[in-house]
Amino acid sequence: MREFALIRAETADAAIAALTAHPNARLIAGGTNLVDLMKEGVETPTHLIDINGLGGLDDVQARGNGGLMIGALASNSAVAWHSDVQVRFPMMSEAILAGATTQLRNMATMGGNLLQKNRCFYYANHAARCNKRAPGSGCDAMDGVNRMCAVLGTSDHCIAAHPSDVCVALRALDAVVHVTGVNGHRAIDFADFHKRPGDTPHVEFELAHDELILGIEVPGLPFAANSTYLKLRDRTSYAFALVSIAAALKLEGDTVDDVRLAVGSVGTVPWRSADAEDAMRGAPATAETFAKAADIFFEGAIPRAGNGFKIELAKRAIVRVMETLKERAI
Ligand SMILES: Cc1cc2nc3c(=O)[nH]c(=O)nc-3n(C[C@H](O)[C@H](O)[C@H](O)COP(=O)(O)OP(=O)(O)OC[C@H]3O[C@@H](n4cnc5c(N)ncnc54)[C@H](O)[C@@H]3O)c2cc1C
Repeated sequence: MREFALIRAETADAAIAALTAHPNARLIAGGTNLVDLMKEGVETPTHLIDINGLGGLDDVQARGNGGLMIGALASNSAVAWHSDVQVRFPMMSEAILAGATTQLRNMATMGGNLLQKNRCFYYANHAARCNKRAPGSGCDAMDGVNRMCAVLGTSDHCIAAHPSDVCVALRALDAVVHVTGVNGHRAIDFADFHKRPGDTPHVEFELAHDELILGIEVPGLPFAANSTYLKLRDRTSYAFALVSIAAALKLEGDTVDDVRLAVGSVGTVPWRSADAEDAMRGAPATAETFAKAADIFFEGAIPRAGNGFKIELAKRAIVRVMETLKERAI
C-alpha cells in the first residue's frame, strides 16, 4: 500500500473543503471496499478523509408518510435490523442480510454500499485490460471469464455487473440519494445515480469529486410491506449474487393491482423494467403473467459465452418470487 495522509473531518463542510483541496483524495466510511482496493493498488489516494466523525448521519428516521430517511453513515446492520425497515420494506432488510458477513455489515455503511466498486474478475487484476480501472486499455471480460458479468446495459467497453444487494431493493423502491458539495445540496433519483458504462465505464456515479452522500430517502409505499428479496449465488453465504430479485406485489382480488420488480447482478446498474411491471399491472396474478413479464424484462439482453445462464435463471426466479408474494398477499 502506498503512503497517504489521513484527515478526520468533523463536519460535511470540512469534508468538502478537504476534497476540494486534494483532487486525489477519497472519503472513507467503513473502509470495507476502499481499503481492499488500496491494498490491490486499484485506488491510490493521496489523502483519506475519514467521515465517521460527522454527526447525525448514522440513524434511520421513520417519516410520517410511511417512508424513511437513512443516514449515509448508518451501518448496513443497523438498517437491516431496524424495525421500520423490517416491517415497511422487508425486501431491503432481506437484501442487506443476504450480503457479505455479520462483521462486514457491522462496518459497512449505506453510503459506501451505494458506491462500492464492481467485482469483475479483471477489475483488480493489473495483468488484465479493464476500461474501468485503466480507461482505454480494453476489456478482457468480453471474451474471457464473464460468468458473473452483466447481460443488460452493457457496452462495447464494459460488461461488469453491479454487485450490490441493497441497491436492487432501493431501485425497486424509487429511493432518492441526498448529496451535498461545493455547489450545495442535490437530490438524485436512484435510477440516475448509477451510470451505465457507455463510452466511459470509469464514470460510475452521478457524484462529483467534491460531493458526499448525506442520506438515502425511501418514499412511503404501503404495499412494500408485501415485498421480498431472493438472492441466488454459488454458495449460500459470503458470496455475491449470480442473480437477485427485489419485488413487491399488491393484489386486487386475483388481479395484480401494483407491482415493483428490480433484478440484481444482471445489469451494469441495478436493473428495473417499466415495461415488465406494466405487463403485470391489471393482469391476472398467474404464473403465465409473471413469466411473460420476465420475458419482457430480458428483451434486449446480450449474453456472452459464460453468462447466458443468468437470463433463464433470473426469469425463473422472477416467477418464483412473484408466486411467493402472491401467496402472502392473499
Ligand atoms: C468480502 C466482502 C463481501 C461482500 N459481499 C457483499 C455482498 O454480498 N453484497 C453486497 O451488496 N455487498 C457486499 N460487499 C460490499 C460491502 O457491502 C461494501 O464494501 C460496503 O457496503 C461499503 O461500505 P463502506 O462504508 O465500508 O465503504 P468504504 O469502503 O468506506 O467506501 C467505499 C466508497 O464509497 C465512498 N464513500 C463512502 N461513504 C461515502 C459518502 N457518505 N459520500 C461519498 N462517498 C462515500 C468512498 O470514498 C469509497 O469510494 C462485500 C464486501 C466484502 C469486503
